[in-house]
Amino acid sequence: MLEEIPRAGVEQVDEAVARAGGALPSWRRLSPGDRARALRDLAENLEGHLEELAVLEARNAGKAISDARGEMGMVVETFRYYAGAPERLLGDTIPVSGGQAFTVREPVGVVGLITPWNFPLTIAYWKLAPALAAGNTVVLKPAELTPLTALRFAQIAAEAGIPDGVVNVVAGPGRTCGQRLVEHPGVAKIAFTGSTEVGRTIARGAAESIKRVTLELGGKSANIVFADADLEAAAVAAPMAVFGNAGQDCCARSRILVEESVRDRFLELLEAQVKSLRVGDPLDESTQMGPLISAGQRETVSSFLEDDVEIAFRGSAPEGPGFWFAPTVLAPVALTDRVAREEVFGPIVAVISFTGEAQAIEMANDTIYGLSGSIWTTDGARALRVARAVETGVLSINSNSSVRVSTPFGGFKQSGYGRELGPHALDAYTEVKTIFYATEEQ
Ligand code: NDP
Repeated sequence: MLEEIPRAGVEQVDEAVARAGGALPSWRRLSPGDRARALRDLAENLEGHLEELAVLEARNAGKAISDARGEMGMVVETFRYYAGAPERLLGDTIPVSGGQAFTVREPVGVVGLITPWNFPLTIAYWKLAPALAAGNTVVLKPAELTPLTALRFAQIAAEAGIPDGVVNVVAGPGRTCGQRLVEHPGVAKIAFTGSTEVGRTIARGAAESIKRVTLELGGKSANIVFADADLEAAAVAAPMAVFGNAGQDCCARSRILVEESVRDRFLELLEAQVKSLRVGDPLDESTQMGPLISAGQRETVSSFLEDDVEIAFRGSAPEGPGFWFAPTVLAPVALTDRVAREEVFGPIVAVISFTGEAQAIEMANDTIYGLSGSIWTTDGARALRVARAVETGVLSINSNSSVRVSTPFGGFKQSGYGRELGPHALDAYTEVKTIFYATEEQ
């Protein structure tokens, strides 16, 4: 056991929403310059706690310390990026008759943030930074399995001078605390990341009061490898594109679509990479992949191997205590197999072969999801053609990058709606108001 913390209930949610509502008028009225300064101070304060937060996150979620450090590095960058926003929430002036019309951005109000266990603090600060920059106050409900970094964040925010009531954290179960946030009349918007199933429940619950909702949900992203690609580079990058964070990543490229003519060569190169992956103690500096989050998650992931599937090869994983699962490559896989259709959220990748560009696009799009993906080719025109044709929110060419502070991130289809990060995230935390000023008699 890492730590014991009291489990919040509905009463604590109501108290937190009341505190956030109480803090809203003065936070939203703060001058843009002062709000920007408050976020810069918070970024500076966080910078002094990065190693502490990284170690806490590695223990919180069982993730490799090198990954946790990378994630914490981005927290400061994110708050600094959005510290520029309060003074740049621009509107339009619109020509109309009889006066002048212009638009301003207003905060939405009290925002409920519901976050998952796979990137506990990262996904929280993707929401916190733009929400606060736009003048909202927040109630954050982290996943019950991983509340520690969110709670520590709230302490650091208070130390940095963020006024009382602006950031509230309620650590309790989704089915009580999460649901109460969704139903609470004092909450104007829910920003959610998690499973498509819970996303659907939240959208349904929010519909009752026409609450604003943004959803970042599951994925089944394709890593498309064409015969003309730099196969070595593609094979080096492919393992961590799906086994990073032990595969518990909504952007995991869990389907490798490889052109038939280079399939065998690619698998050969991939095997060497997968077998050399270092799976072990998350706090060991050399670890690339830690255990799964829970016994339940390991059961869910294992169930995919109980289907009629063929294991091409596996990496290694420690024996003994811990929810270990060796990185696993399945091939050949048919597009109709369950492992090719459902989000595994664990270290299993399905290798499927295709013939020609049209079939690659068709296969990539044959999923209910559309979150991320990669294309490997040396033909620039093909790369751009395929990138435009694949129905997904983020795509990288000859890379597995999905996330940058300054670029929008979010899903097509059942991967959700709304965008996080970049300038687009501010749309999700503001309402547009039109003001008309009469200059002539009406
Ligand atoms: P969930 O979608 O169940 O949980 C995400 C968050 O929603 C948690 O904070 C959870 O709280 C909360 N929640 C659960 N039920 C409700 C509800 N009825 N109303 C409001 N909030 C609720 O994901 P899990 O963590 O259980 O993971 C299950 C699967 O979801 C994974 O195996 C994976 O496939 C997918 N997933 C996808 C993620 C993504 O980034 N796209 C992230 C995480 C999971 P609590 O945990 O405290 O119950």
